[in-house]
Amino acid sequence: MMALKRLLIVWIAAMAMLPLHAQGVKKVQFCGRSLNDSTGEITLFLKLLDGNGNAVTRLDENSIKDCLKVFEEGQGIDRKKARIKKLISGKRIPDDYTFSILVDLNIPAEGKKRIYTELKRLVDSAPDSCVFISFYGNYVSNSEVITSRNYAEFEKKFMQEDGAKNFYSALYSKMAEFSSSTLELESEARVVDGYKKNSMISKRAADNKGKNILIVFTESSGKILSDDIGYFEFTKYQTAAEEVPKVFAFYYTGTGEIDPEVEAVLQDITEHKELTEDRRGKYLPSSDIGEIINTLGETIGKQMYDYTFTYRALKERYDGDTQFSAKWNDEDAGEPTRITIGTEERPWIPNPDPKPSPMSIVVKVLVALLTTLLTIAFFILFMKALIPWIKSRTFAAKYYKKYVPEANVQRRVCHYCKQDLQPGQLIVTKCKHYMHIHCWKINNYKCAEYGQNCNEGIQEHVEWNTLFTKQTLRDSKQTIAGILAGLVSWIVYSFTGDGRFMDALARPIVNTFYKVNGQFTNLADVCVDKVSSFMAIGLLLGFFLSLVFRYNDEYRNKDWKVLLKILGLSLLSGVIGMVAFAVGGCILCAILPLIHPTNIPWYCSLPAYLLFSVCVALSLTIKSSVPIKSAMLGGLCSAIIGFIVLYFADLAKGYGMLLNFIIYGGGLGASLITVRALAEKYFLVIQNGVKAGQRIPIHKWMNATGGGNKVTIGMTGDCEIQMNWEKSNKVAKEHAQLYIDPARTIPVIKPLANGVIYNTRAELPVGKPSVLTNGDTFKIGDTIFKYEETD
Ligand SMILES: [Zn+2]
Ligand SMILES: [Zn+2]
Repeated sequence: MMALKRLLIVWIAAMAMLPLHAQGVKKVQFCGRSLNDSTGEITLFLKLLDGNGNAVTRLDENSIKDCLKVFEEGQGIDRKKARIKKLISGKRIPDDYTFSILVDLNIPAEGKKRIYTELKRLVDSAPDSCVFISFYGNYVSNSEVITSRNYAEFEKKFMQEDGAKNFYSALYSKMAEFSSSTLELESEARVVDGYKKNSMISKRAADNKGKNILIVFTESSGKILSDDIGYFEFTKYQTAAEEVPKVFAFYYTGTGEIDPEVEAVLQDITEHKELTEDRRGKYLPSSDIGEIINTLGETIGKQMYDYTFTYRALKERYDGDTQFSAKWNDEDAGEPTRITIGTEERPWIPNPDPKPSPMSIVVKVLVALLTTLLTIAFFILFMKALIPWIKSRTFAAKYYKKYVPEANVQRRVCHYCKQDLQPGQLIVTKCKHYMHIHCWKINNYKCAEYGQNCNEGIQEHVEWNTLFTKQTLRDSKQTIAGILAGLVSWIVYSFTGDGRFMDALARPIVNTFYKVNGQFTNLADVCVDKVSSFMAIGLLLGFFLSLVFRYNDEYRNKDWKVLLKILGLSLLSGVIGMVAFAVGGCILCAILPLIHPTNIPWYCSLPAYLLFSVCVALSLTIKSSVPIKSAMLGGLCSAIIGFIVLYFADLAKGYGMLLNFIIYGGGLGASLITVRALAEKYFLVIQNGVKAGQRIPIHKWMNATGGGNKVTIGMTGDCEIQMNWEKSNKVAKEHAQLYIDPARTIPVIKPLANGVIYNTRAELPVGKPSVLTNGDTFKIGDTIFKYEETD
């Protein structure tokens, strides 16, 4: 009994230490944030809610400080260093909100007085020039700014009496005020002499979509004057106006019967089922003026936050969603909320270097160069070593086998050493020309008949000793070019303020497509950041990638005409990239309100990147030799990898954008060349003699991307094409060589001995390469070869 009593005393004492009402908070709602660029401070807007979801507003700063603990990404924010502000008289409404209050002068004086008193709260809570007021009776008055300073002047206007009632004119003209264009029936409205639309309202509305509120007061006694604006005009208005405010209609019915037509209009403009969430207000009829005042108070209260929590940024840079959570008296208070601070493309730096020293710029560029070099090395190792190695291993696993004598075959010989295959010997079974593995390796990992009677017996393998040669670099030219184009794009991007030069173009897009849903948070600015970064990325990457790829792809002499064409086509690619990203930005703005009110999840950005990469890759195929399929595939794959690095690789902080750029460039370059080499096939077709009509697929040996790139024609067995059918003695041991000129990626023939006749007329000079084009012929000895290209 004593123990219980003692426990009770302890419990009471413990509870007494807490402010009584502080115990009621069950949820901390994060409503948004503002950032202070000069102090590096983040201010979070908070509402404290009790178990029923009602706002707890009576706590003072100190009692909150004792109970509240805020976490940024799970890291507790030191409450001693944070500032909590209770917003009683302060500005608790975000300054991008616009309120227009329309008052019916026919409301009984007592009611008007209470409305006037209640509006003080709104006026005091809102920053200046957020609240406008107008009246109607016989005529509709101008909308005027009402602030806490000029509030008193409006009492007289409130108390005016007026027998008439221009309800439709008033409602229509006040709704129309949110739109900067002139609506059809505006001129019909019965307004005071010298009436002018307040342009501040439409301007604010255009800048802050979805944050515009019209509060209408009317009552049911006054006879509504008939005018040309009737019930049906309001439905038309919804589609004609640029910006439609959210309407809260307070209908005081204590003075007479409800007018069904007024009720229908008010219901339609506030709660019509076709109104989107951000435009839906509320129709609030009541015969009790006290109830109207309470609802008005609640309506205003819901647009406000009650507390701010200001602290010094914990990180050096913020690049996207940041998770906030809170504990109240050490108990979780609501679900964590993600709020976007900065973007992956344009991070927010809380304490930026006002004047970056030349040294820090040099360091930044050096790190970027090093990153680029490492990426190049990685790409080359990947393409030249890892992939061929895997292919080679797969080949070995599949085709290296122990020889098992077949039932109906007497003996089999190795096609290389011509010796019998013994049971149990390791052989290669890729083609029907079985060979010992060691013979296969001696013959450079290919079938002895390959190129003549065999076209499948070849194994890709890694020549480690030739990997670190100039040839490898030359083979990877397109990849390296793509990576360097990414580097150049990044340099331009980051030294123009992460693409801020596109802000002016991005803002109209966001204004058009971003329809806000949330009550407090405004992601419009983050969207502008996003979309303008997008468009800058599209323009820069599209342009520079096209420039290098087209320059490499062009094998003709580059005179000014050719260069001009390359430049023009590259500008086109840049514009295509920019437009693709702009469309992706529209998608982001359009889907964002459907998903989340406080942050931009990663997948909202993905469509933009995919669209961009497909469009830019396709633009590279315009008037070039790049095949569409390879461009598409390469573009998509590298865009996804780049995206993953940018959005998920925490290690890349600060250089995530660079990696995104160069991976995309390198990947695109790599895919263009790989598939290109596969797509282009070269043959020699023998035109005369015993072998007439035979097609030799010489592209097996000629490959600009590596492996072999040489076809030798001559008498000896070392030649890829051994002319053992030639009876004349005019053919040398090695007579001619075909290969793909790595600098120009076109096939050429180089005679090694005299007597190579080109197109039946000219003899080609020894040791000097000549370009082969489709259909060319050349004669060696008595044999005429025709060169053919197919796709
Ligand atoms: Zn052998
Ligand atoms: Zn074979």
